[in-house]
Amino acid sequence: MKKVFGISNFRLCQQGVCNANMDGRDVVCVMPTGGGKSLTYQLPALLTPGCTLVISPLISLITDQILHLREAGVEAVMLTGGTSKALANEIQQRLTSMASSRGGGQQERDIKLCYVTPEKIAKSKGFMSLLRKLVEGGKLARIVIDEAHCVSQLGHDFRPDYKKLSALRQFFPHVPILALSATCPPKVLQDILKILHMKPVVDGKAAAREGTIYFSAPLYRKNLHYSVLPKPSSAKDVISAMSEYILQNHKNNSGIVYCLTKKDAETVAENLQAVSNGRIRTGVYHADIADAQKEGLHRQWRQGSVQVVCATIAFGLGIDKGNVRFVLHHTKSLDGYYQESGRAGRDGQDADCVLYYRPQDATRQSSITCTDTDGQAKLHDMLRFAQDMQECRKILFAKYFSASSDLSMASWTTEESSAMDKCGHCDNCTRAPETVEHKDVTVETWQLLKILEAVDAQGGRQTIAGLSDLARGLGGGSFDTGGKRQKVKEKVQLDYDAVAGGKVGLSKDDIETLTVQLLVSRYLGEAFSSTAYTVNVYVIPGELALRLSRFSRADVVNGKGPRIQCSFKRQARKVKATAAGTKRKVATGNISDEEGVPVSVAGPSRI
Ligand code: ADP
Ligand code: MG
Repeated sequence: MKKVFGISNFRLCQQGVCNANMDGRDVVCVMPTGGGKSLTYQLPALLTPGCTLVISPLISLITDQILHLREAGVEAVMLTGGTSKALANEIQQRLTSMASSRGGGQQERDIKLCYVTPEKIAKSKGFMSLLRKLVEGGKLARIVIDEAHCVSQLGHDFRPDYKKLSALRQFFPHVPILALSATCPPKVLQDILKILHMKPVVDGKAAAREGTIYFSAPLYRKNLHYSVLPKPSSAKDVISAMSEYILQNHKNNSGIVYCLTKKDAETVAENLQAVSNGRIRTGVYHADIADAQKEGLHRQWRQGSVQVVCATIAFGLGIDKGNVRFVLHHTKSLDGYYQESGRAGRDGQDADCVLYYRPQDATRQSSITCTDTDGQAKLHDMLRFAQDMQECRKILFAKYFSASSDLSMASWTTEESSAMDKCGHCDNCTRAPETVEHKDVTVETWQLLKILEAVDAQGGRQTIAGLSDLARGLGGGSFDTGGKRQKVKEKVQLDYDAVAGGKVGLSKDDIETLTVQLLVSRYLGEAFSSTAYTVNVYVIPGELALRLSRFSRADVVNGKGPRIQCSFKRQARKVKATAAGTKRKVATGNISDEEGVPVSVAGPSRI
């Protein structure tokens, strides 16, 4: 380790993983991004005969590793779709001759590490038969699956080719597997074990004999400062807010803005640079950007000639830049927010991880996740997290990642504090109490339910924004009959006094906040309706609605039924005043991005 990698001490659980690995055990290792997962197979690879096969999702990531390894004088190669025929042949020949060479010793020219992208396993029969030769010659030391959460659809970065890695254990039952990840909630872990056909996780005495050994290092990094900031409702204002934030807090620092879709990434990059008059130099990174351009961007960003990379999750796996001072999230799932925040502050210095959030994102996300397994549950986790204005972010993460685990997640501790100690520096830990108002909103909830019932009775449906307008008596509330071709939009005619005993006396933002809380607590539900290219999301009375709506208004006012509490932000916000007389844009039933363009709903190609 010292001689080749210049590293003098193990970090986190590196030593344990190396040992278990060299003992031939199946291992799952979860360490934060930047924690040093690579060493846990690179060191064993050098210390044992044979070749270590590493499956890694991105060519850029593999190239990075190969460069580092070659600099250290390690025989490492990569085989990807982009490898030239001649080079691929040479590598295959070297591996074949390794496979047929006798004895257990090591030869000078032996390939110690062979990196491949997952489609090599999924699609190349030739490569699989080469692996078989290696296994038969006793020369395949171990199989490493980097970013192993990509095998699971329950994770946030599913890759179909990863799923096909299940063939590895079927073909090579005796080769130990090491699965690495920085983000692995319990369900994802179980999924990884199942898909890769790894043995069940064991601990205690049983761990001495058999089964997969599970290592997880402290996932909390104290130099990361988490916060959720209010996201203005117009796309333009979001960009202004981000620009202001960056210029005020991180004028000359490198950062990333994570966006939900490729188009978002492009729009944000362009507008951020424009709004700041070029003071913030941006670049775009997503799956459709050409490889050469990606490399160029990476270089400019490292050098600092590009300050901010606006990207989808395609950017980041394995980014090796230490001084990322801020990561902003335009719209995100909780897994994504956590995982991608990990790209910040890898040098150990302070960094900010900001989630821009507004309740309306709920619908946008819903329209994208409604087709996923568990998409709804994941979305609600995010909403709960974002709307929480009291609990420490670190504790919220800890609870989220250890929820419903049958494994003891004792490792949710940091070096100097336990998992359930407050971090003391996130937005919730530092929030002034007067900036949050806790309010009994039982009557308002009852009103919302009654209004929805009335809308439903008229055969209409409401979006979150539509409901908010409608509830306040603004004619803007749209009425989407959901007709096939003719999208009939009419103003909903409601007799507020008869239906709900009057209009709801909360602000637009507050009603949206309340609506999301009611979605999460199942007083409200979501209904989806898909068209050829969008999924529309509507709010409807939820499973628990009747608990409250069966009472009359007078009963509710007099304390009957459950009480509903909600916390509202009372911070002075910089919201640009709309010009007097400007008509409020009517919310449509379509889930569209901020520019009003429908968001298509598709698989991973969106990123
Ligand atoms: P991960 O894959 O977990 O995100 P890497 O394996 O890429 O992280 O390692 C991140 C950085 O930490 C690398 O620059 C690596 O050289 C360094 N590193 C790894 N282990 C140690 C260690 N024990 N001590 C010091 N630096 C380390
Ligand atoms: Mg890594």
